[in-house]
Parts: sequence; structure tokens; C-alpha cells
Amino acid sequence: MVTPTLSAGRARHWALLFLLTLLCACQLSSKPAAPPAPALRPGEVFTGANDTRAYRFIELPNRMKVLLISDPGTDKAAAALDVNVGSRQDPDDRQGLAHFLEHMLFLGTDRFPQAEEYQNFIASHSGNHNAFTAFEHTNFFFDVDSQYLAPALDRFSRFFVAPLFTAEYVDREKHAVYSEYMANIRDDQRRGLDVLREVVNPEHPFSKFSVGSLDTLADRPGRPVRDDLLQFYEKNYSSNLMTLVVLGREPLDQLQQMVTERFSEVPDRERHIDPITAPLFAPGTLPQQVRVQPVQQDRTLSFAWPIGDTRPDYRGKSLEYIGNILGHEGGGSLLSALKQRGWAQALSAGQGFDYQGGALFNVNIELTQAGLPHADEITQMLFQTILRIRDGGIQERLYREQQKVAEQRFQFREQAEPIREVSHLAGNLQDYPPEEVLRGDYLMERFEPAQIKALLDQLTPQRMLRTLTAPGVATNKKSTFYQTPFSAEPIPGLQYEPWVNAGLNPAITLPEPNIFIADDLSLKPLPAQPAQKPVLLDSGAGLHLWFLQDAQFRTPKGDTALSLRSPLATDSAEHTVKTELLARMVRENLNEFSYPASLAGLSYQVARNGRGITLRVAGFNDKQSLLLERMLNALRNPQLTPELFARISFEYRRQLQDNNQRPPYELLISDLSTVLYRNQWPDSELIAQVDKVTLEQVRQFAQELLAHLDADMLVYGNYTEADARKLGDLVKQQLLAQTQATPAPAVEVMQLPAGRDYRRTVPSPHDDAALLLYRQAADNAKSTRAALGVSAQMLSSDFYAQLRTDQQLGYIVMSTPFPVRDVPGLVFLAQSPVAGPAQLAKAYKEFLHGWAQRSPDQLLPLFERHRSALAQRLAEQPKNLGEASERLWQDLNSGYLQFDSREQILAAVRVLTFEQWLPLFKRDVLGTDGRGLWQAVDGRFTQQPLRVGEPIDDLDAFKTARYFYTFP
Ligand SMILES: [Zn+2]
Repeated sequence: MVTPTLSAGRARHWALLFLLTLLCACQLSSKPAAPPAPALRPGEVFTGANDTRAYRFIELPNRMKVLLISDPGTDKAAAALDVNVGSRQDPDDRQGLAHFLEHMLFLGTDRFPQAEEYQNFIASHSGNHNAFTAFEHTNFFFDVDSQYLAPALDRFSRFFVAPLFTAEYVDREKHAVYSEYMANIRDDQRRGLDVLREVVNPEHPFSKFSVGSLDTLADRPGRPVRDDLLQFYEKNYSSNLMTLVVLGREPLDQLQQMVTERFSEVPDRERHIDPITAPLFAPGTLPQQVRVQPVQQDRTLSFAWPIGDTRPDYRGKSLEYIGNILGHEGGGSLLSALKQRGWAQALSAGQGFDYQGGALFNVNIELTQAGLPHADEITQMLFQTILRIRDGGIQERLYREQQKVAEQRFQFREQAEPIREVSHLAGNLQDYPPEEVLRGDYLMERFEPAQIKALLDQLTPQRMLRTLTAPGVATNKKSTFYQTPFSAEPIPGLQYEPWVNAGLNPAITLPEPNIFIADDLSLKPLPAQPAQKPVLLDSGAGLHLWFLQDAQFRTPKGDTALSLRSPLATDSAEHTVKTELLARMVRENLNEFSYPASLAGLSYQVARNGRGITLRVAGFNDKQSLLLERMLNALRNPQLTPELFARISFEYRRQLQDNNQRPPYELLISDLSTVLYRNQWPDSELIAQVDKVTLEQVRQFAQELLAHLDADMLVYGNYTEADARKLGDLVKQQLLAQTQATPAPAVEVMQLPAGRDYRRTVPSPHDDAALLLYRQAADNAKSTRAALGVSAQMLSSDFYAQLRTDQQLGYIVMSTPFPVRDVPGLVFLAQSPVAGPAQLAKAYKEFLHGWAQRSPDQLLPLFERHRSALAQRLAEQPKNLGEASERLWQDLNSGYLQFDSREQILAAVRVLTFEQWLPLFKRDVLGTDGRGLWQAVDGRFTQQPLRVGEPIDDLDAFKTARYFYTFP
């Protein structure tokens, strides 16, 4: 695959609240060659064909660059401010200072001195906020109910005018940074970066530690860290280095006024930042071979070459041209050749880390067990591929094809969530001329063979850093901050000479023309009265075909989803494993053929679901049936070879084993599902089955599975009814012809008993402890779900404030609604480097006890505010076709055949009174009625285990003794 350019190399530290929902949107950068561009007037920007928002660029008198976005229909307003300063600017003896500043900045300003003011304001108006610190950027962003943009900007703008950096919080936030550091200490990506820091040129600022520790941020005699913080802020937080993006429903003129009034006061300190001139690798240190021992069982062979700054070439994207061919997965590709030998299972290529002055080009190859001893031959094949491109592979045909795809992607770009959009565009505004802020990622309008050749000439054995990451590789030292075992040594001439003269490999060829690129981007005519909800077109032969022509987004895209459900698929751990292996092998069968589809803007999925297998195709509708037909055929006639089976089952087993290495809080969330669903099995049971199952059994099982099915299908998007029927027929002919319609199995969710709490300890090698408390409501009435939703909303920021901010128990602290199907529940969760499960449980209880002490008079105004915020959230409309489709698909899978689950809950929230809510709050949240499940990871705190509730020793026996809710 092609490495997403913008996110790969920038290590981001999320300071935050909503880490589960807010992950960065990866942009596949590529570009359009528009017809001769219409002249823009000052302040205008290039927009896509489907973009209905209004944009204006302005520069404030203090030289802050601002992009205003007006979207009268938006539910959420959002803003982001990016400062072109990051860990690069950390003083050598204050590593992590930029990141520490990011944490401290939010804690009070001249006009809003309270530390929690901003967070509370945002949270109580349906918003989220977050920030990240990267090498050259610090990016702050939020969203909020669109009525509250102005007061939110009142608060936000003061961070850049008059922050307090209140002394009493310094210590607390230092510990927050420390918790964040510890939470990621076993993260292989961070550990690998720590090694990279060690091998780069010590003169290059990338060699510094960007997160910060108690030591790097310690007060020193005569030099408290706060003094350094103030100095850093005053030096670097200058309006001329800032970009701001504000999206709201107000007209542009009004947005402009709002911004000008609030941000013109940000001081222009006339800070200038030069490109970095020190080379990323010290002269004479390449070629170099690094070996790294991971925590998980990763086996990766990766290559990195330092190259010049690629940003000036955003119109040509010559490097991306190379990445697209090296990262190709179709027939004749490097990956295909490696797979034929059984040596690799995935490959990505593209620009990684970049900065003002340079960048890295990376190729990462995920090895199989069998590939591990063949690193040198794989290296040889990589250089054969590079030579293949250099000798005759710099072709206008290939470039134009990439250009066309990028152009289509830009023209029909889906609207991202406002909060992601503003954060991303604030970064773009630093990198591109203002008129290209939207289009810059996609521009590809200059085919420059000489430049491509010049880049290829740098991708030589003599200039490479090669890193082999695998369990048990020989190492001789440990990295400073993450204690990653590694070794680094020069690659001798004798070893790399053969790669210099790699020659051509007949198995490796250039990509064929891509048959999946959409030719027809026209919109199908709408009927006079377009339907609002899907209608059932057909219900024969085991297929329920639902259809809705999109009338809202009017874009040449669609989503075709098929859920194949069988009573056999997941009724035991054994069958679950067989279904999983089958889905994985089918996916692998398809990969070479369908990889070009993913390049052409079609995504597809073949995956096990809770009751069977899902097939899904989304993106441009033009060529979807071509892909779907192939997918159906692959499922009906899978090529289940011994080599593939060995590779896939080994990989599946490895992933199951590595699950246990995940951060403790993730482990607990996953384990909660295992406990609650009747048909979910612990990883240990799945592993035992993987060890037993044979290829012959999977072949047999595939026949049995497909012989009895019930299928739900949804066709939504730029389709007519006739198109949908054709797709339905395809499914019937290709897949269901010999299938006997069989009712789908029910989904069963455990009903926790009243009057009792349970506990369960989950083993983990991590040092941090974690505790999850799940409270299940006593019933699943709509009013109960509504009440729990409001309660969750009320508690969330207070839980965070008490456990994370005040008590400093950990970096990951959250409370969130946790509905399982239609069973309402609530989760409290924290991961801690400083407290064990017993202490965390005490903190949870004190928290709940504090809420139990509040009088109805205190609760009433909170209730009203959060009930209305929740109603706002539920009333939010989908922002793009993908989101709309996902909602419909979820409803269909959950049996809401009126497609109105959201409306139903919204109606219940709207009529909920305080008098109805209060007893439910006491019963379901404060825990006077049992139905609690405590799950813990002990970490290094084995001396203070959890004592609350009755232990669950045998999960199977526990499940057998419970009642279950049943959903069709
Ligand atoms: Zn942070």
C-alpha cells in the first residue's frame, strides 16, 4: 500500500479526552490536474465539484493566516489553531517542553482563569477538544454545538493571548505527561521511533525525546521548569507562525468579524524559523543496519532513505509517483513476487517523517516467519524493483492514471467531521499557498521524469538505513527512553555490492492499466418523490434486498453491503475460527485483483461479523458491480491452498497472541465484549482452536457455511432501483443459487443479575494497572437508555477532572456510555502507572459517592443542560454518504427495519423529565442495585488486587448460569 503521507512520520501525542473517537484522518495524498484553473479572486480557494461550503482566506494584521469556512447546515462548529513549532524547538536540556506546553496551555487565561473552564464549556455544549504536538507543529482544536462558536472562541483565543500557566498545575501536568509516556512504553511504534532517534545525527533536532519525562521536565536549582515554559512560549508562540481555521454556520463576513476581534490581539513576535540544515544522518553513517526487538511478534524489514524537502514539489508529487509503484499490490508487483515465495504479507511505501529541510522515504515489508531468514534476498528484490522503475518505468501513462484518480478523489472528497477537517486544514495552511489549502494534498499536475529519476538515484544501497524488527534478533544495547533492545552497525561493502547491481527481475513488472477507475461520474436522475428510508425490494431465496437512492449528498458514490448470516458461523470457538480463517483467505485471494480498486477510490471488505461474513464495497459507484462479482465468486470458490492456509493461520494466531500486548485499557474493553456476548470467545480458546483446525476442515466448513444462509443486503447511494435489483441478482446467482434459506441466529447479550457485582482479572504483561467498571441498566426500555445517556454525559467531564486532573491517577481516564446492542450500560475506565486496581476502585467509589451526595437542587440544572446537549448530539445529521450509509447499515443489522433507532432514542430524551431520570440514575449508575462488572489489569500492583464483587473464575460456567437478552 501507499503510506499515507501526512500522518505517517509525525509522532502525535494526544492530550486527551476522546481518544477513542478522535484518531487522525489519514489522507491519501494525490492530486488533480484541473482544466485550466479559473482565476481566483483574493481570498478564494480551489474547491471540489461537490463542495457546498463557502471559504475565505484572510491574513490578520498580526500576520496570522486564517481560513474561514461557512456551512449554514452544520450541526457542529469547529476551530483549530496550528503553531509551526513543536518538539524540534525543545531546548536540548528541556526535552518534551513543547509537549508540556501543549498540556499547560489549556489551564486558564486572564479572562477565564479557572483551569476547567474551557473543558466544561465545550463538554456542556456537545463538544470535544484535543491537541497534539508533532516535530514542527502544535495543533489545538475543538468542536461545539454550532450556536456556541462565538463564546467558545472567546475562551480558545485567550490561550494565545494571555494564558496563565498557573504555577500550582505545573506539577500535576508533569505527571500527566509522565502517565502518557508510561502508557505508551510498550507501544512498538514509539519504541521503534526511540531507536531511530538514537541512530540519527545527534546534531539533528529529531534526535531529541519529544514526549518528556519527570526528569527532563524537573525543576532545577534556580531554574523551575515553569520559567523555561514561559520563555519558550514568549519566544515561539508568535502570530506570524500561526494558522487558524474556523468552521461555523455563520456567513463569512460574520465569521471574519468574530475571528478578527478575537485573534488580532495575539502578539506578532516576528519569529522566523529556518529549514534544518544538519543532515538527518551524520556523514559516513550510511548504509546502516539496525536490529530491533519488538514487544509484539512483529517481523518487519524496513528501509529508509534521507531525501530533500518534498514540500516544494506539491504540484508534481514525484516521490508519490514512486511510492505508488513500489507499494503496488497487483500482479507483477514487488509484494506479489514476495508473496509467491511466501516471504511477505504486506508492504507499504511512501514518504515518512518530513520536516523543513528534508524527509525520509520508507519502504516497510511485513515478513512471514518463512521470510525472516531471507532479508538479503528481499533487499535484492527491492532494488530490482527500483531499477525496474528507473529503466523504463517513468511513464507518462502511469503518471496520468495516478493524476486522474487523485483528481477524482479531490472533486468528490467527502466532508470530514468538522473537528478533523479544521485540524487538518490548519496544518495544510502552513504547507501550501492559501488557495491550495484544500487541493494541495491531491495536486499532481507536473510529470517531471528528470525529477523522478533524481529521486530514484537517491534510493541506493549505499544511502539506506535498513531495519529488521523481529523477536529474538541479536541486539547489544537499549534505547534511552523506551529501553528498546537494538543494535546498529554499518553494512559492509561485500554485503551491499550485489544490491548495487541488482539487475532486473522478470517476475517484477509495472502496473497494468487500472480497470477500476471510474469513467462515469454522472448522477442518476432522482424520482419526483425520492424515498427517505430504504425500502425492501425483494425478500426471496434467502436474500432481503434493501435499497435507497441517495437524494441528500448527490455524489457519484455508493455503498453496497451484504451480511451473510449462518447459525454455524460463530456458535462455538471452533466455528468462529473457521469462519475467520475462511474470510481471511478469501480476502487474500482477492488482493491482487482488487488492489487497483482501492487505488481508484473503491474500498472493499470481507470480514467475519458476529453472525457470519460481511461483504462490502464503497466508493465510486461506476465499477462496483465488477468488484462485487469477483468477491462473490471468491467466496463461492475460494482458493484454499496449503501455503495460504499456513501463512494465514500463523498470522491469525500471532495476532490473537499479541492482543494481550495491547494497552491494558484496550484489553479490558475487548474483554468486556467477550463477557457480555454469548457468542464471543476468549483469545485463549480461539488460539487453542487455531492449533487444531486443518485446511481440510476449513474447506469442508466453507461448504456447510454457505449451504444455509440468511442474507441482508443494502444498496445505498447513486443507484436506481434497477441497479439495485441487478446487484441483488448478482448475489443470488453467484452465491445463493445452491443455498437453503435459513433464519439468522439471534444475538444474545448477557443480563447481569440485580443485587450483585462481579469481578474479573485479565492478565497483561504491562506495568500499568487498569480498572474498568461496567454498569448495566436494569432493563432496555427506551426511557432507560435515554436516562443513561444523559447520566453518562453529566458524569464524563467530572470523572476525568477528578481522576486524571486532580488525583493524577493516569493519562487514560474516561467514562462513556457503553450500549451493547440495545442493552444500555456505562463504562468507567482508567489506566494508571501509579495506582493499582484496589486504589482505582476506591477512587471510582468515592466519585460515585460524591454524586450520590448531590441534592436534587444541584442535579436539576446539570440534568437540563446535559439532556439538551445529548438531544443536540442525537439530532446531528450525517455529514457524508459514508456516515449516512453506516447508520442505515447498523440499523438493518440491529433489526430496526424502520431505520429509526436514532429518532426513537431522541424522542425518549426529549420527553425525559428530571423526576423520571433521578430514580434511574440512582438505580443504574450509582449502583445501589448491583449489575456491576469490575475488570482489572493488575500491572505491577499485584500486591493490591481487586476485592470488590464476586470473582468470575470460569467464564464458560459463568455464561451458562446467566440469562441473556435476545435480539433478532
Ligand atoms: Zn500529551
